[in-house]
Amino acid sequence: MTKPPVVLITGASRGIGAATALYFAEQGYSVCINYKADEASARLVAEKIRMFGVKAEIFKADVSYEPDVLALFLFIDETFGRLDVLVNNAGILKGQMTLLEMDAERINHILSTNITSAFLCSREALKRMLSGASIVNVSSGAAKTGAPYEYIDYAASKGAIDTLTIGLAKEVATRNIRVNCVRPGLIYTDMHADGGEPNRVDNLKHKLPLGRGGKAEEVAKAIYFLASSDASFTTGSFIDVSGGL
Ligand code: NAD
Repeated sequence: MTKPPVVLITGASRGIGAATALYFAEQGYSVCINYKADEASARLVAEKIRMFGVKAEIFKADVSYEPDVLALFLFIDETFGRLDVLVNNAGILKGQMTLLEMDAERINHILSTNITSAFLCSREALKRMLSGASIVNVSSGAAKTGAPYEYIDYAASKGAIDTLTIGLAKEVATRNIRVNCVRPGLIYTDMHADGGEPNRVDNLKHKLPLGRGGKAEEVAKAIYFLASSDASFTTGSFIDVSGGL
């Protein structure tokens, strides 16, 4: 019997990552749930996934830290024995401020979590991936707006992930590995509380053409589409999941 395909989702103990883990499981994938700190939530996601009758394992790793990334991929080798899809989802936002108020510690934390992690995880994934595999990066609408006076560090990290998507898609295309990206915008998750504005989605939803905030599940479906064979001729591409923003 052929083994089910395997997906690794970084930062999957909550929010978009958790919704994506559940959606891939529903489609028959075995799922590796990476988390940084919240083991109890990661376990809960894994328990829900096992109810679909597929394999789910959790692994603690700070994906911005190379030794943790190497350990995560060794765990995948030993536990799953293959890797078909990587979703570079882990990301952070910090309180709103202008560049003049930002210190190097904050900037480096944002950049290492939001972009270095995607470089490291993609490199390790590509050492293992075979023809037909794919990577989906999670960017943000902020990559296009620049998020002035709020989070230009976050926006710039997401601009970098867009460029990584374009370059890497070309670098691995001859191996028939695809690299794509979703750009969510104003999705109801706990990230906005970390950014100092817990009600951000409700505060700003009137600016969205669709007039409402998005759900993590709606982002998960776009990620799944890009990873799936339904998107077999799509690489280096972007889907905005942002209510028309
Ligand atoms: P979230 O805060 O719920 O999820 C982010 C996850 O990443 C958390 O589980 C966190 O623990 C994890 N994480 C942070 N640093 C990590 C590290 N070093 N190693 C491993 N895991 C780490 O927020 P979310 O909204 O679900 O965000 C998921 C992705 O979507 C992020 O990349 C975010 O930038 C992006 N995004 C979200 C929105 C939105 O409106 N919620 C909009 C645009 C983009």
